[in-house]
Amino acid sequence: MKETILEVHNLKKYFPVHTNAFGRPISFLKAVDNVSFSIARGETLGLVGESGCGKSTTGRTIIHLYKPTSGEILFNGMNTSTPAAQKKLRRRMQMIFQDPYASLNPRMTVRDIIGEPLDIHSLATGQERSDRIRDLLQLVGLSPEHSKRYPHEFSGGQRQRIGIARALAVEPSFIICDEPISALDVSIQAQIVNLLEHLQETLSLTYLFIAHDLAMVKHISNRIAVMYLGKIVELADSSELYSQPLHPYTQALLSAIPSLDPAWRQRERIRLSGDVPSPVAPPSGCGFRTRCRYALSLCAEQEPILLDTGSGHLAACHLLRTS
Ligand code: SF4
Repeated sequence: MKETILEVHNLKKYFPVHTNAFGRPISFLKAVDNVSFSIARGETLGLVGESGCGKSTTGRTIIHLYKPTSGEILFNGMNTSTPAAQKKLRRRMQMIFQDPYASLNPRMTVRDIIGEPLDIHSLATGQERSDRIRDLLQLVGLSPEHSKRYPHEFSGGQRQRIGIARALAVEPSFIICDEPISALDVSIQAQIVNLLEHLQETLSLTYLFIAHDLAMVKHISNRIAVMYLGKIVELADSSELYSQPLHPYTQALLSAIPSLDPAWRQRERIRLSGDVPSPVAPPSGCGFRTRCRYALSLCAEQEPILLDTGSGHLAACHLLRTS
């Protein structure tokens, strides 16, 4: 059995929205609401859902860019809630951001951007630092000559490569990829996915790969978790999720993926009506019931629990218990 690198137990991240006369919060935006999962060493877990479903907040809370409201995050078995644990975590866990331009300081050269984490963690100085920056640039498919240039001199794909090199500088074992290809041209997306796969193989990396549609995570993920309104509604082995989606939301997301495969194209296109409800006032019972074509009266009364339907395929839907 593979060793577990990350365990997330009942994670919640609520943001206060309204406060009373005494400044105490009285309503919350429940961005992440009781999320649990684990990731094995060397695995890629895809985390998918529409905008605002809480997937990026989940990633940012795991790396402690946001303080969790409650829940437990274990990294290599170590509880990450203390400042001392978070200091250690900063070397072992890194993040690649969606917008490579916004995440790079425009006034810094590439050499300084990649060298900054080496300086912060006192990992290399002088010639060793220069050699390390050169090696990192080559590792991500850039040339050592690029080190003297500024972010605006690069294309979107090249900027994402710089962001990846910066994340790799501290030799992490776990990387949260927060929509790393969403802002890129389709032609460049495959190159970045191939690079991430190559780096995973050569550097034994583990990924949490966040994306807003299932087509993007298909090739890179071993397992996929689908999020809706701050909760995981389905989690399964990647190929099983594509061939046998159990949750009506996953079925709708999958039906929207364009494909050249004639068998796939014969699938019914499920159109979701309405918008995602507000996470400040989510519906009672199942959060998906306002858009679900199978909704029962029970769905308004009781929240479905994420249950294992067999061999690690989890789904949260009353239909799976009543059928
Ligand atoms: Fe639809 Fe009910 Fe299942 Fe929710 S629990 S997905 S509303 S059938």
